[in-house]
Formats: sequence, structure tokens, C-alpha cells
Amino acid sequence: MTTQTSTHADPKVTVLKNYVGGHWVTPRSDRQLDVVNPATQSVLARVPLSDRDDLEHAVSAARAAFPAWRARSTIERARWLFSLREELVHAREELARLVVTEMGKTLADARAEVGRMIEMVECATAVPTTMQGRVLENVAAGVDCETVRQPLGVCAAIVPFNFPAMVPFWFLPFAIATGNTFLLKPSEQVPLTQNRVFELIDRLELPPGVVNLVNGDAEVAQAILESPGIDAVSFVGSAPVAAHVYATAAAHGKRVQALGGAKNHMVVMPDAGIERAVEGIVASAFGAAGQRCMAGSVVVTVAAAAERLIGPLTDSARALRVGDGLDPEVSVGPVISHQARQRIERAIEKAAGEGASIAVDGRGVSGKDGAFIGPTILTGVRPEMEIVSQEVFGPVLVIIHAGDLSEAIEIVNASRYGNGTSIFTESGAAVRRYRHDVQAGMVGVNIGVAAPVAFFPFSGWKASFLGDLHAHGTDAVDFYTRKKTVTSRFFTEQGHEKLFGEH
Ligand code: NAD
Repeated sequence: MTTQTSTHADPKVTVLKNYVGGHWVTPRSDRQLDVVNPATQSVLARVPLSDRDDLEHAVSAARAAFPAWRARSTIERARWLFSLREELVHAREELARLVVTEMGKTLADARAEVGRMIEMVECATAVPTTMQGRVLENVAAGVDCETVRQPLGVCAAIVPFNFPAMVPFWFLPFAIATGNTFLLKPSEQVPLTQNRVFELIDRLELPPGVVNLVNGDAEVAQAILESPGIDAVSFVGSAPVAAHVYATAAAHGKRVQALGGAKNHMVVMPDAGIERAVEGIVASAFGAAGQRCMAGSVVVTVAAAAERLIGPLTDSARALRVGDGLDPEVSVGPVISHQARQRIERAIEKAAGEGASIAVDGRGVSGKDGAFIGPTILTGVRPEMEIVSQEVFGPVLVIIHAGDLSEAIEIVNASRYGNGTSIFTESGAAVRRYRHDVQAGMVGVNIGVAAPVAFFPFSGWKASFLGDLHAHGTDAVDFYTRKKTVTSRFFTEQGHEKLFGEH
């Protein structure tokens, strides 16, 4: 969607609210933006842009709820997640359609996203096991030592536009399962899915203040980073903002994890099964119109792979239908806004100006108002061109050639990003070498999108991630708890018979 400050408000358009302390509240701030369907440009709602006072209202509610929530039994917190799961399962189709309407991806893709969101909740219900500490008897004679995990307090997440359902759930279920209270700031471009999710949460009669929703843009995000009432921040978004979030949150004494942008490479070896490689590459580069942090945007063909791959790949890209994601015939929906489309088109033009050939040109999709740009493939690309190092975040794939696997790995590792990467080959030895040497947080073997799996940690390396602990999986419990180590001994020599009822 495009975001523009609404000056002529249509009274028929719903204005969203925040969810604070178990109530829907109108923020004090009167700044608002239109929420726009990127496929049709129709205005879906208006989102309030909360200010610092609005945020502090939510922080107070979350702080007030923390002691009682933390004191609940762990299994009770897990049971609440079971109930949330049931609500989400019932609403899954409605949520998927909302994702399509506000973000633009296809319905099949949105359904998969909502499925992954639900998996995050399912995974978090294991908290009575995953939150356990460790005990060792006799660290010295008669002395025992144990480590317990305790929640941090109030945790916040600031999230991007491209996964309106899933990315907030990399954090929310794990944060509250471990006994924290939570505050979500959705992307101001796609606030509707989480608005609906919080309506579902509201039905569950969770204690007020355990989860809170604060709508807004960079202004309220900055207030989150600075608020003394917030103990930890999880961020997902572009690399420059991730760097700012990491530095600012740390300077304000918070625990922080900041997942940033990407430029993901897919290496194709000469022995790859070409048909399956083409399928994987096309889904990775053009699914969600290239607006995934795990989207493959650079193909590195090794030796003879180029001759086998490029023909079928360009044919397959040309065959994809571009349009509204709700149309079942469509494979590539719009990008988020016309502003994004123009930025992507400029990146293509710049690469062409630097000598790249446009083998498939997705510019100029006609006959529609939406922010459409079709699959685009650039060949004749050299590693030093800007399009190789810059994240385009659109359906644009560039192809680079390498003489052998070593050169391919050098090209991949030269990127300042290290989010995800894939290799297509049937050679175990090539895979062994690649997974050992490549510098990226997520690696796919004959898989184009090494997507997040709820029960494993997820994140990139290098400029794609700032922090220590990755999102979800086992890392989530580490991120959302702090360890306390207790060393104890007891003096029972005198009178112990009486204590233990011995004679
Ligand atoms: P963005 O960085 O523009 O915005 C992300 C969030 O940060 C939004 O909620 C926004 O309101 C907020 N924000 C914007 N400017 C801010 C500032 N100066 N200070 C504090 N907060 C600010 O990103 P986007 O366009 O919404 O999302 C696309 C980007 O997200 C891409 O770069 C993509 O690669 C990245 N992404 C990364 C991952 C990952 O796992 N690494 C996952 C999804 C998306």
C-alpha cells in the first residue's frame, strides 16, 4: 500500500484504534495515514500514528500487568496459547485474505504465512519444557547450584510490512509464554491483520495489559527505543533502520535483536536438476513479488549450469501471471506501493545503464491501477554493479556467472548481507563444502526459500542481523528470559532428626 497523510478524511473509512490494557483506545495523536490495497489502490482504513504519550499509556498497562502474569503457572500461560491457536485456526482464511488485501501477496502465499504464524503459537506452548533451568548437586560438598530462567518484564516488537501475520508472531507467543508482557507496533503500511488478531485475542479474556497494540510509524518506534519502561526490543525491517534500532535500544539499556535486509544468492551447480532448480528459483525470486527477506535475488551459475538454466528460467518467469493476489490464476501480486514500484524500476534502469541486459522486462504492466511490476531478469551482470550489492525488494533477479564453486562462494561471501542462500546440486560434496564455508544464517539445499521453521532459530548474519539471539525456536526462550543462578546449602546437623521425622 501507499502511505500518505490523509487530509480529506472520508467518514465512511474506519479509523483503527490501539489496544491497551484490554481496551480499544483512540490515540491522543491526531496524525493518521490511509491504508491502501496495493492491487486496487482503494482505501481500506486509516491508521492512527501514535505519539510518545500514547506509547507510555501502553507501557504503563504492560508494566502493571507484569507481576501477576509472571506469577501465573507456566502451564496456565501455555493453555492461553492453546486457546489463541484455536481462534487463529478458525480465522485462518479471513486472516489470509486480509494479508492479501493490505499487502498484495497471493492468497496461496498468504495462507502459507498464516500457517507459519500458527506454528509459532504451537511451538511456544512447549514453554513448560523449554523454560526449564538446570541443577547440579554437590558443586562443593553439600552445596547445590541451580539456574532458573525468569522473564525480563515488558518486551516490544517493531515489525515490517511484508509479513503482516507471521513476523509479529516470531515474538508475541514466545514473549508472553515466558511470562513477559508485550507491546506490538505493526507496520503502518499493513496494520489490519494484527488489528483483527487483537480482536481475536480480546475474546480470550487474557489479563488486561499482557498484550498491547500500538499503531504508528517511526515516531512511536523511536519512543519505544527510548522508553525506560521497556526492557527488550525485537526489530525486523530494513538494514539501515535495524542498525539505528540496535544502537539506540542498546544505548537505552535494552536487550535487542534487530533483523535487517538481505541480498540472497542462489548457486546453481552444473549437475543440478534443472527443472526443480527453475521451480525453486522462480518461487524464491518472484513469490510475494520479491518482497521477502528470504527472496533469492542473485543467481550464481557455476560453469556449464548457465547454458542449461537460463532458457528455462526466463521462459518460466515470462509465463507468470501478474495481478491481484486474490485471483487464483495470479502468481505475482503488486509491490507494496507505487513509490516502491518506481524505486524498483529505477534500480533496473541503473543496472541497464551499467551494462546489464534485460532478459525479462517486467516494467510497464498495463491496464491496472495497482502497483504492479512483473518478473524481471537481468543477465550480463558483474559483481561490482550496484544491483548486486543493493537490496531491491521487488521481483528482480540478476544472474552472475562463476567458473567453479570456490568462485561462487567468494561471490556470495562478498555480500555485506548474509540472510539466506541456497545451492542447487545433487553432489553431497558440493553441499558439504557450501554449508561449511558460506556466510549466511539460513541455508537451503535444493530449496529456494530456506523459510523460518518455528522450532528452529531464524536469522541472518552480517548486516542482515544485529544481536546475539535469533528469532523463535530455542533462541526465543533465551532472548525472553534472564538466568539466575542460585547456590545453596543447609545446616541440618543439629536437630535434623526432628526436621525429617527420624529417630
Ligand atoms: P522498514 O525498515 O522501512 O520498517 C520496518 C519497521 O520499522 C516499521 O514498523 C516502521 O514503522 C519502523 N521504522 C521505520 N523507520 C524507523 C526509524 N527510523 N526508527 C525506528 N523504526 C522505524 O522496513 P519495511 O519496508 O517495512 O520492510 C522491508 C524490509 O524488511 C526489507 O529490507 C526486508 O529485507 C526486511 N525484512 C527482514 C526480515 C528478516 O528476517 N531479516 C524479515 C522481513 C523483512
